[in-house]
Amino acid sequence: MGERKKIKIIGGGFAGVKCALTLRKKLCRDEVDIILYNSENYLVFQPLLAEVVGASISPDPVAVPLRQMLPGVYCRTEDITRIDVNSNYVEYLGDEGRKGQMYYDHLVIACGSVVNLGLIPGMTDHAFPLKTVGDAVALRYHVMQQMENAEICEDVERRRWYLSFVIVGGGFSGVEVAGEINDLVRDTRKFFRNIPNEDIKVTLVHSRDQLLPEVSSKLRDFTKVKMEEAGINVVLNRRVSYVTHEGVGFNDGESIDGATIVCTVGNATSPVVQKLEAPKERGRLVTEPDMRVSGHQNVWAIGDCALINNSYDNTPSPPTGQFAERQGRQAAQNIARVLKGKETKPFRFRPLGQLCAIGGHNAVAEFLGFHISGFFAWFLWRSVYLFKLPSFSHQLKVGFDWAWEIFYSRDLAHPKADLTERIGKSHFQPGDYVFNEGDPSNNFYIIESGEVEVVRKTEEDGKEKVLAILGPGDFFGEMALLDNRVRSSAVRARTELEVTVMGKKVFEQISGTLRPFRDFLADAVKRRSGNMWQKLPVVYEILKNQPLSTFIKSVEISLDPEDTFETAVKTLSEKELDFCCVMDGGNKIKGILTRTDIFRAVESGVAPHMKVSEFMTESPIVVTENDTCTTVAATMRDHDLKWVPVVDNLTNLYVKGYVRRDKMINFVLEKFHEQHNKAEVS
Ligand SMILES: Cc1cc2nc3c(=O)[nH]c(=O)nc-3n(C[C@H](O)[C@H](O)[C@H](O)COP(=O)(O)OP(=O)(O)OC[C@H]3O[C@@H](n4cnc5c(N)ncnc54)[C@H](O)[C@@H]3O)c2cc1C
Repeated sequence: MGERKKIKIIGGGFAGVKCALTLRKKLCRDEVDIILYNSENYLVFQPLLAEVVGASISPDPVAVPLRQMLPGVYCRTEDITRIDVNSNYVEYLGDEGRKGQMYYDHLVIACGSVVNLGLIPGMTDHAFPLKTVGDAVALRYHVMQQMENAEICEDVERRRWYLSFVIVGGGFSGVEVAGEINDLVRDTRKFFRNIPNEDIKVTLVHSRDQLLPEVSSKLRDFTKVKMEEAGINVVLNRRVSYVTHEGVGFNDGESIDGATIVCTVGNATSPVVQKLEAPKERGRLVTEPDMRVSGHQNVWAIGDCALINNSYDNTPSPPTGQFAERQGRQAAQNIARVLKGKETKPFRFRPLGQLCAIGGHNAVAEFLGFHISGFFAWFLWRSVYLFKLPSFSHQLKVGFDWAWEIFYSRDLAHPKADLTERIGKSHFQPGDYVFNEGDPSNNFYIIESGEVEVVRKTEEDGKEKVLAILGPGDFFGEMALLDNRVRSSAVRARTELEVTVMGKKVFEQISGTLRPFRDFLADAVKRRSGNMWQKLPVVYEILKNQPLSTFIKSVEISLDPEDTFETAVKTLSEKELDFCCVMDGGNKIKGILTRTDIFRAVESGVAPHMKVSEFMTESPIVVTENDTCTTVAATMRDHDLKWVPVVDNLTNLYVKGYVRRDKMINFVLEKFHEQHNKAEVS
């Protein structure tokens, strides 16, 4: 007997599991080893994830253990990092990050797709995806936490914000999760005292003119009508262009509030497929009719990661579980045919139909040519998915949860999934408040890009006064955290802003154990505490009504980001400059170059032809013509700046000139002398 053939499957989703099961049935254990790699040790039954979010079922039954489902298949919980199609090897990342290689005779790529929230600014930081069991559990917890927040919130506007939910994407998963969240929140509000029905707002945003592009037009209309009747606000023909902590925004300036944002759009190619040199279309691997990757005899691709023609109607297969399963089965049959020296067959499948639950015990269905909607369709939807769950024990669990829901309310208790505070990131739009005066202090912030202004209402007229401007590399929020008190000033984004957010516990742990960080903070607190102008009232009086234009000097010499190191050194030394603005052809500031930047570049081994853009200070602190002299003076003092560029506004960043600290100081001294002399004469 020859050596046993090795068939490797990457991915334990619908496609990979069906393929492994069929191969095991078709091929004798003495002939082939079937090895299935999956990132987790279970299959995620994605069509029921929305039910987990809505607390209709518990999370357990949607994670089906691969080992118990696949007897006779060698399951490895490992990530495949690279495929070498020329030498027939896969590279994996094993325990403790150990790399390894394994040979294959046939390889089946069934690794689905990944979520890409990066397509829309702010989505990564503020939106919940829905792809894994963890996503569903985290979202369910978040929804319940918002209800608890609303219950104890005394401010009506803020309470409404807590109760606003925005779902982006009106495909199957968007519609299902919108329906589930709406049902969960409205059905359980009776257990709360402060949650009136009219304060709840669930919005479903879709970029096309009808929801559910996959079903017939009549069913799409039915879906919209039923969802609106259930209280869901359906927004069509709108494309979300950014997401912030406060909600979602569109490019015409309109926005929708939302304390919970769910993103069901933005699928991307899995990294291992991305790296593979093989023909792809819109990120999916192009296959031959029999599902072999074009140009390869022993590499097959199935499921969401593959673009497979359905010879039944000559159209590309859609990325659905139904197709993934059929492709898994038929690819396994083709591999068995190849091993037995027979001809392969093209993929062929007559779609059975589409089913989608839309909330409120309603669903829409296209089944074997029939169009059904309403309660009966919903009953059909539940029956089909109950039957489709891969094991009897899982069917029993889900059946029990659904039966429970008929007699009792959805379970509101939800243990926290994540007790450890993490370091996260947040995105803010210009004008958004990171926090307000009087807010509790929970976080410490470090600016990654953009600018903020620290503002406080004055006692005299209650108007906001800018105390300081902070930019990339600066931090804020430490004073209230250290003193354990509420915020004494507000912080507002001046530009688009990315910050790293450190929770209170993490902040306390780091500042308690890392001495240099503690000293650094103590220094900052000393510098920032108290009002600088209280110590310098005379200077404040001189500067407060002075227009900033008094001090703006135009930029006569500047550098271009493409200029070389040699040009930069020559410019700074010949003109005896201690700094230079780096601007593009359109006069927009790209960075600044100081002597320190030059020395740093020399230390790290600069080449004479290195471009200025590679060693300049990017995103420097800038002020605008509309800023007051006192704000600009405080900003220069806070950052120990000798000068600061002035721009037209923070969006276009056109350089109008710069302000020098010594010029301001000289002006103050002259005025002070004048006042002093006048006083002596009188
Ligand atoms: C919320 C939601 C609801 C849905 N509802 C429906 C529905 O009602 N009906 C329907 O037909 N379809 C539905 N779908 C789509 C359906 O779930 C997918 O089409 C189907 O899961 C695709 O199967 P797959 O095997 O190709 O990929 P997946 O099921 O995504 O499985 C891929 C597996 O590969 C693993 N993997 C990826 N990369 C690697 C690697 N490098 N190494 C090891 N393992 C790896 C992943 O961990 C994953 O387990 C829904 C999808 C979602 C997200």
